[in-house]
Amino acid sequence: MTAGHFPAATIAGNLRAIRERIAGAARRAGRDPGSVTLVGVSKTVAPERIREAVEAGLLDLGENRVQEARDKVPLLPPTVRWHLVGHLQSNKVNAAVRLFGAVHSVDSADLLRQLERAAEREGRALEAFVQIDLAGETTKFGAREEDLDEILKVAATCRAVELRGLMILPPYDPDPERSRPYFRRLRELLAAARGRHPAARLDRVSMGMSEDFEVAIEEGATVVRVGRALFGERGTHANGGG
Ligand SMILES: *Cc1c(COP(=O)(O)O)cnc(C)c1O
Repeated sequence: MTAGHFPAATIAGNLRAIRERIAGAARRAGRDPGSVTLVGVSKTVAPERIREAVEAGLLDLGENRVQEARDKVPLLPPTVRWHLVGHLQSNKVNAAVRLFGAVHSVDSADLLRQLERAAEREGRALEAFVQIDLAGETTKFGAREEDLDEILKVAATCRAVELRGLMILPPYDPDPERSRPYFRRLRELLAAARGRHPAARLDRVSMGMSEDFEVAIEEGATVVRVGRALFGERGTHANGGG
C-alpha cells in the first residue's frame, strides 16, 4: 500500500494515519511516540473488520460491553490485548476478568475488591484504571475525585489487580479544545495521587478518543481509545457499557 495524501479508505490506512497523528502529537509535546498505546475501540464493529486492524498491526482492542466481548474475543487472535472501557456491573466481574487484560472503568473501592477476588480465583493478572467523573455528570459513570484515595488504599492490598492510573471520558464536544481542561486536570490529579501514594505504580493516563486524541497526548495521555477514526462511524446503541 502506498502512503499519500488521499483519504484513507481502508482500516489499515486509517490505522497508519492515526499512528502518524499520534507520533506528531507526541513530538509536539516533546514525548516519545512509543510512550502512547493505541487502543482500537471495536464496539459494534464486526469481527472480520476488527481482524483487518489486527492484521495491520494493532495489538490492543477495547470493548464497552462484557457480553459483546464474550462473543467477539474467541473470534480474534489470542495475542490481542482486550481493554474494557465501559461501565462494569458487579454480576459481570467474573466474565470480565476472563476476557480482559485491562479494565479502564473502576469507579469504586467495592468494584476493585470484587475484581481482585475474581482475578485471584481465576489466576488472572489484570491492569486497572480508575475512571474519574470530573464533570460531576450524574448521568455518567466514574468515581469522584474525593473517592480516589479510598480506591488507592484498596489497590495497595491487591495482588492480582494492579491499579496503573486514571481514565476520563469528558462530556462529548466536537471541539477538541473543550476537552483539554479535563485532560490537564486528570493528569494533575494523577501526579497528586502519586505524591500521596508513592508505593503505587501510577504511570498511565487513559484519555482521548477519535476527536481529541491529539490534544490528550499533548496533555500527557499514555493510552488513547480510538473507535470511529479507525473503524468508521458506528450505528446506534454504541454508548454506555455493561
Ligand atoms: C466508544 C468509546 C471510545 C471511542 O470513541 P470514538 O469516538 O469512536 O473514538 C472511547 N472510550 C470509551 C469509554 C468509549 O465508550
